[in-house]
Amino acid sequence: MFTMLNRFQDYSEQAIQAARYIGQGFMVTLDHMNRLPMTIQYPYEKLIPSERFRGRIHFEFDKCIACEVCVRVCPINLPVVDWELKKDVKKKQLKSYSIDFGVCIFCGNCVEYCPTNCLSMTEEYELSIYDRHDLNYDQIALGRLPISVIEDSTIQTISNLNYLFKGNTESHSNSRNITNFLE
Ligand code: SF4
Ligand code: SF4
Repeated sequence: MFTMLNRFQDYSEQAIQAARYIGQGFMVTLDHMNRLPMTIQYPYEKLIPSERFRGRIHFEFDKCIACEVCVRVCPINLPVVDWELKKDVKKKQLKSYSIDFGVCIFCGNCVEYCPTNCLSMTEEYELSIYDRHDLNYDQIALGRLPISVIEDSTIQTISNLNYLFKGNTESHSNSRNITNFLE
């Protein structure tokens, strides 16, 4: 009789424990029902890059003095600075400038140390192409200004992912700048 009571007590404790685990599982499920999806529908939706995002480098040919500081500070000596010496004025004259983004690691050293600020990092990150040689940008390609994600009216932009934090139950449409593309 005593053994049976002990077994019944063990069984009851196990049943209560199991019910507690199931309850905890349901609480996790309910908690996640309040949250919005972690994914964005790229390329129809895009995140707005942060202010200090290190994307494709922009180059201003007229400001470059061909000092080659960018080459020396680059961990892989990547920028190719082609210049000639103008003997009459004893000055270097820049002939061409290129950076191969197939090799660049976007560390930003060249931008940081350029004495004339002719280099800057843009928010452009869509550099995929079919031929890797096309990633070798000359001064003309480097001089092109990027299209801002915000100005592209064909896509939705998401300013940040704050809405993903626990407890925020705003709908997608309240958290985004919406254009007409998907409406
Ligand atoms: S550091 Fe600046 S100014 Fe000097 S060569 Fe490089 S891009 Fe031109
Ligand atoms: S971002 Fe870094 S790796 Fe790329 S060219 Fe500049 S210094 Fe070199």
